Order: sequence, then C-alpha cells, then structure tokens
Amino acid sequence: MQNLLHNLNQEQLAAVTLPAQSALILAGAGSGKTRVLTTRIAWLIQTGQVSPAGVLAVTFTNKASKEMMTRLSAMLPINTRGMWIGTFHGLCNRLLRAHYRDAGLPQTFQILDSQDQLSAIKRLLKSMNVDDEKYPPRNLMYFINGAKDQGLRANDVEANDDYNRKFVELYDLYDQQCQREGVVDFAELLLRTYELLSRNQPLREHYQARFQHILVDEFQDTNDLQYKWLKLMAGQRGAVFAVGDDDQSIYAFRGANVGNMSAFEREFRVENLIKLEQNYRSHGHILDSANTLIANNSKRLGKNLRTDAGHGEPVRIYEATSDLQEAQWIVEETKSLINDGASRSEIAVLYRSNAQSRVIEHALVASGIPYRVYGGQRYFERAEVKHAIAYLQLMDNPHNDSAFLRVVNFPARGIGARSLEQLQDAAKQYGISLYAAVPYVAGKAGATLGSFLKLIEGGRFETQHLPLPEMVQVVLDLSGLLKHYQTEKEGADRIENLEQLVNAATLFVSEEGFGIDAPALLGPKAQAVSGAAITTADGIEIFDADAPLATVMSPLSAFLSHASLEAGNNQAQAGEEALQLMTVHSAKGLEFDAVFITGLEEGLFPHENSQKEDAGVEEERRLMYVAITRAKKRLYMSFSQTRMLHGQTRYNMRSRFFDELPEEALKWLSPKVQQHSWFANPKSAWDEAPEKAANSISKNFGKRDIGWRIGENVAHQKFGEGVIVNIEGSGGNARAHINFGRHGMKLLDLSVAKLEKV
Ligand code: ATP
Ligand code: MG
Repeated sequence: MQNLLHNLNQEQLAAVTLPAQSALILAGAGSGKTRVLTTRIAWLIQTGQVSPAGVLAVTFTNKASKEMMTRLSAMLPINTRGMWIGTFHGLCNRLLRAHYRDAGLPQTFQILDSQDQLSAIKRLLKSMNVDDEKYPPRNLMYFINGAKDQGLRANDVEANDDYNRKFVELYDLYDQQCQREGVVDFAELLLRTYELLSRNQPLREHYQARFQHILVDEFQDTNDLQYKWLKLMAGQRGAVFAVGDDDQSIYAFRGANVGNMSAFEREFRVENLIKLEQNYRSHGHILDSANTLIANNSKRLGKNLRTDAGHGEPVRIYEATSDLQEAQWIVEETKSLINDGASRSEIAVLYRSNAQSRVIEHALVASGIPYRVYGGQRYFERAEVKHAIAYLQLMDNPHNDSAFLRVVNFPARGIGARSLEQLQDAAKQYGISLYAAVPYVAGKAGATLGSFLKLIEGGRFETQHLPLPEMVQVVLDLSGLLKHYQTEKEGADRIENLEQLVNAATLFVSEEGFGIDAPALLGPKAQAVSGAAITTADGIEIFDADAPLATVMSPLSAFLSHASLEAGNNQAQAGEEALQLMTVHSAKGLEFDAVFITGLEEGLFPHENSQKEDAGVEEERRLMYVAITRAKKRLYMSFSQTRMLHGQTRYNMRSRFFDELPEEALKWLSPKVQQHSWFANPKSAWDEAPEKAANSISKNFGKRDIGWRIGENVAHQKFGEGVIVNIEGSGGNARAHINFGRHGMKLLDLSVAKLEKV
C-alpha cells in the first residue's frame, strides 16, 4: 500500500487526517490546499472510511477535476472515472440528468452557454415588443443570473418600482420560455438541483446518506446558492471539508461571497480550523512581494506565508513607451528564458483583460515562438462550431428555439424574415416551440420550413444507431455546413474547426467511457449501489445518479452538455510546448516557472471599473496577489506609457500596485521615474517636454508607413488638424503619435483612423 502521508508537513498531515467532521482549511497561495484535499480523499478511501462512491468533491474548473482524478488514480488502485468529482455545474448536470422527471425537465434538456442565454433574452424581448434600449438585454441577463445565484425565482424578488417590476416580469417570462424550449442556463442548473433536493425529501435523504464526505476546493469563490446547495447536500450530519484563501477571492462580480467562509465556520460548527503557512511554490522575493502587497487590504481573515526556498531572482520591472515595445520586451525575455533551458509551457504571460493579448500575440507570431491563448474565444464558442452544435441540438431536442433560429436558414435555404415572422406568430399564438409550429404555417413559407423539418428528422433517423463521432460527421455533411464553407474564401480554417468536432467527439466518448459497461468502471465496491433503482423507507423508487454519464444520458446529450459547459469554462487547458497566454482570472490554481504580469497601469490593472469603491480596488489587489503567486522562480512585471485599446490610445499612469511592493525584492530595468511624467498629461506634452518630443521627431524623421510620414500634417474627423510625431509598427499594425494641439497627443491606428493629408 502506498504511503500517502509521507510527503506532507505537520499541518498538512493534521488536515488530511482530520476526523469526519466539517473543517476549514484556510491558507495562502501555494501552501498545498489542493494537494491536501486530494490526499484526504485518497486517505479516506485507502483507510476504508469511505468508498469512492461516498465522496463528493467540488472543484472550480473542469480541468481541475480531471487533474484531481488523475492524481487520485496515481495514489490508489481505483478507477476514478465514475467518482463524483466535478464543478458545481457539472455535478448538477449529472443529478438533473438522472432525475430529470422529478426536476420537471425533458430528458434531453440542453444547456445554454452565456452567448445563447443572451440571444434567448433578446428573442424574448422582441417577441414581447419590449424596448430593448430601455431594458437592455445584457442588464436583464445580469439581473436574472444575479437573482438565480441567490436562489431567487421571479416571485421571490422584491421590486419596488415599475422599472424593476418589469425586470421581474421578464425574468418570469424568460423562465417560461426556457421551460418551453427544454433549455437551462448555467445558474438554472444549480437552482433547479437545489429546488429538486429541497422539495423531494426521499431523494435528498438518499444523497445526504450517500455522500458522507463532501470536499470543496477554492471555497472563497462560492456564491450564495452554492453555499446553500452544500448545506442541503450535507444535511444534519454531513462532513464538509472546505479549503480556501480569502485573499484569492476574485469573483465577487459574479456573485461570489467571501463571507461564506465565516458563515461556514459558524453554521457547520467547524471545530477544526487549520492554517497552512508554509509555501512550497515560490521563491522568497516573489512571496515577499505577494505578502507585502496583500497587506494593503483591510478585510482579511489573517494568515501568513513563509518559504524555505531562498530569495531567488528579484522581480524584474519594465517600463515600456508603448504596448508594442512591451510586447517586444516579453519576446526578448522569453527567448532568453528558453535559451537558459526553460520549457515554453512553463512560462505564462498574464493580463487583466482579453483585449490586451492581441499585441503580444502579434509580436510572438513575428518571432516564431509558439503560444497558446486561453480564455478568449474558446473552441465551442466559434460561430461555425456553434452552427454544427445547433444541428445536433435540434436532433436531440427540436424545441430548442435558439438552436432552431441559428440554423434554420444557415446555410441559406431561402427561408426569409417574413416566413420566420409567420412562424414566430404561430408559435406565440399556440404557446409552442418554433419547430412544433411549422405545420401551422401555410403556403410557400410553410413548404420551405417543412423541408427544414424533414432535414432534421431525416438526420435523426439516419444517425440514431451510429456512434457519436460518426453521427457528428454525418451531420456536418447533411447540414450543408462543410459545403457552405468550402465555397467561402476564408473557409479553410472553419472547415478545420468543424472537422475538429469529430475529434472532440471521439475524445469525449473515450474519456467518458461511453460504450463500456458502466458498473465495471466503478470497481467491485460500487457495483452494489449502481445500476439498480433504490427503494427508500417510504417505498419510493429512486434511480441513483451514480454511474458515469453513460448510464443516465445518451452520448449525444452528454456531448452537448459537455460543449456548453466547456464554452463557459474559463481556465487554461493542459499545455503543449507553447507559451501560455491568459487572463489572471484563468490562471487561478495554476503554477508556472516564470510569469509575466503585463499592462500594470492605472485603469487597466486595477481596472477602471473597480475604482469607484474601495471594495473594488481590494478585489483587484487580490487579483494581483493571485497573479504574483502563480510564479515559482521568476516574475516579471511591465507597464507602458501609451497603449492602444479598443481603437483608442490611453496615456496611463503606472499601477499603484508598484508602490505596494517591497523595494528590496524588485529590480527596475529602466530607471524608476516619479509619477508625473509627460505622458500622463498628453495635452501639455509639448509644453513640458519639447525636447523629448522633438528628439523623437528628429530621430525618426522621414520614417514612412503606407504613405504616412513623421512630420506630416494630417486632419482627423474628430480631433481636427495635427502633426505626426512618431510612427510605430508597420503595415496593418502601423500606428502614429499625432499631436492635435488643443486635443493633445493621440496614438491612432493608421489603418483605422481615416486620416487625411492637409
Ligand atoms: P493555490 O492557492 O494557488 O490554489 P494551493 O494552496 O492549492 O495553491 P497546491 O497547488 O496544492 O497549493 O501546491 C502548491 C505546490 O506546492 C504544488 O506544486 C505542490 O505539489 C507543492 N507542495 C505542496 N505541499 C508540499 C509538500 N509538503 N512538499 C513538497 N511540495 C509540496
Ligand atoms: Mg489550489
């Protein structure tokens, strides 16, 4: 038997081997929280205190749950595939699939990712003739999700004016629309499960008895509903083992409530609160930086971190004049890291928002360094992939109106706006889905819609006995999508993405174990509970959602939920040999040998939206703490005097966070200047630093780019006349610093700015 405990320190050991009561492990980054949680599961199973089927473990991302299963399989001779390890959403999906009837859902219910949810809301507003300027769809979406995250249905929400009453009314109508179409959004997955278990006593008692051990990672980011959900699952006796770090709570904007940690301590009568203070991840200077920074926050539960590792390298800080130059610096430093033997996948470039990656990517492409971007548009969110998924969704559940509208006329098959209007009217009149309303449309419109119906039904018939990957292949052909993109000029990439879907299906089938006998996956112990229906004391039969997805839903349904859940998944995937680019949020829980934190400017990081209130800045500071603590050996930070974002030039001050770091841990690569430099106030650039400006002109005078020259006079629609003082980049990426006199200095994208010569 493997000794699971030998490589733990005293506190970790104490945490892993706590008795079966609720416990809170409160500890800073890199102190081994995730390791402790995983080891505890293994220890509980190995010592026979629980069977794999009695464990419920909640992770923050799908990737984290896969990793946990892999680690467990390495520690124990069990197959972890059937175990209940997953995200809140993933676990709820599984429960709802098994108990769809009790939950009031069709067996083939489908999951709306946030993109689909927004379009469903737009559709609702349109059909109700609601003014979408007065009631912006996005606001309604936040309103609905916010309410659901607190466990509130429309009739639980108190509205005290007409405007809010309208929101509540629309929330209710939205829920009805989803129910009619057999779709659920992310928040609904949780709320529906919560309601199911709170109303259905035998079912609740069954799961409460079954899950003797519930373990939650990243507990600081649970929202109110998730907390209530855990309470319900745990029941009176249940033991919840929660690990978290209040300093890493970074999802308040999505409803996460760090107050859950103290509530948990109180309400779960936690007797064992263990702090882990030894950090195993980062070198000294990096850890000192993190500690000193986070000490600036006021509301903290209080804990320390120390390391036995030496100081290591200082944190390197670079000031660039432009974001292009910043990107170039990242490329150079990366090259030298690689030269020194670093592996590319062990280097991460982090930024506050996705829009910042473009410039960095550009520099990486030019330098030939392979990279991967995470958290931007993900595979399952690409338009062509969503089209293909929509066909599959319709075959599985034809009443999904979002899917219907997405592809009814894509590729074009002569179904125009008028026909659709007729169809929507009929659907509204009878209160049915668009698909069901087709027979009520007469004339030519009816005929073309009818042939679309036949296409979907034919597809379903033709593929019903095929394995999933082949089914996907047939649908790509039959839908006309492949053919459509073959005729499109830039279609090659899209075709490749579509064909990837067949691979994704193949991988999914093998990972989830479809086609393999379900009980065999769980090992002999689990066979006793899986498969058969369970009869409770009250004589009610319960089908236990025990087995892998394979036994509770069809491969197609499972694959479609996987696609929706992945689309909402924000974390990076296991990397190939490529540099890792991602937002700080996506980097949570991960670690890298070397980390770049870029764009450290006021307004960007801390983000401008956060600065209205102290709480906002504190959350940004926690985000910065997360960023710093991802680094093991080397940490780089950078900021730039000017930056082009969303087509606009910003002249930014460096981030206040620099002033909150310990000077002795830092190495400024360019001299640290006082923070009132000329760029912070573009209007007076020439007044304050005429030499600097003139210098840059004379150095580059005559440099040209697609017809533009430094020193040339130009006119801009909004800013009037100005003079080009500098040009950077070239071709489609060329940008010019232009002094517009009264309007000050601007950095404009030459390919976008529509300048005229004067
Ligand atoms: P985060 O807050 O970022 O999620 P964490 O507290 O979950 O971090 P882990 O990811 O579990 O920390 O551990 C951080 C690193 O330290 C990992 O590489 C882990 O393997 C290592 N580690 C943890 N405990 C020990 C130990 N006792 N001995 C050696 N290495 C350890
Ligand atoms: Mg962790």
